Amino acid sequence: MIPIKKGEEIEGMRRSGQAIAEIRDRLATLVKPGVTTKDLDEAAAKMIREVGGKSPFHGYRGFPGHICASVNEEVVHGIPGKRKLLYGDVLKMDVGIVLGGWVGDTAISVPVGAIASETEALLARTQLALAKGIEQARAGNRLGDVSAAIERCVLDAGYSVVKEFVGHGVGRSLHEEPQIPNYGRPGSGPLLKAGMTLAIEPMVNLGKEAVRILKDGWTVVTVDGKPSSHFEHTVLVTEDEPEILTCRKNPTLS
Ligand code: MG
Repeated sequence: MIPIKKGEEIEGMRRSGQAIAEIRDRLATLVKPGVTTKDLDEAAAKMIREVGGKSPFHGYRGFPGHICASVNEEVVHGIPGKRKLLYGDVLKMDVGIVLGGWVGDTAISVPVGAIASETEALLARTQLALAKGIEQARAGNRLGDVSAAIERCVLDAGYSVVKEFVGHGVGRSLHEEPQIPNYGRPGSGPLLKAGMTLAIEPMVNLGKEAVRILKDGWTVVTVDGKPSSHFEHTVLVTEDEPEILTCRKNPTLS
């Protein structure tokens, strides 16, 4: 069963989405050469605490961080640590919050200074793929329409889609039904209904799609060592336009 949110539940999802969107964007401004992923994790933990929330990742199956921080060929689930960011790196931060019992989940890829133009293009395409997927997240469509739109956008540019890790429903829990692959057939899968809240998150590799998990048990890396990109939004399905809950309504940075 895919949970349907109504009324106050949707308001709760809006509040958590806005809170984590602001934290994501404030964290992005802290990304610069010399900063460690641990520094960013501590900053995130503080920001999340200050708004009265907690990280849904911290302690999840023993995950030690408050955010996931993945650099270059690391795809997702990187553990924050002593690694210093270098000029030319690309950092993927996956950030989430539980606020008032509702989870908001979002991810961003941030260049550290100027990055290789091919990586810059990879990031832009991943954002476009996310937008194409979100566009399909509307009542009456099938989940496969979302997946297929993402996959087509990625493959058309000559990149590859990570298949082992997928998006997901989100709400009271970080991971609810359905699973949302970034590949699939249009018109397949469950029917989308107003009130579903989905974390849509393309993970796109510059090179081949194969990934593996490092010995730390968490960090996912590309097998070919080429860079990967990741963007994510929590989205509310409505009868009309999809509502991006983790898109800031008031984008002024404080
Ligand atoms: Mg997610």
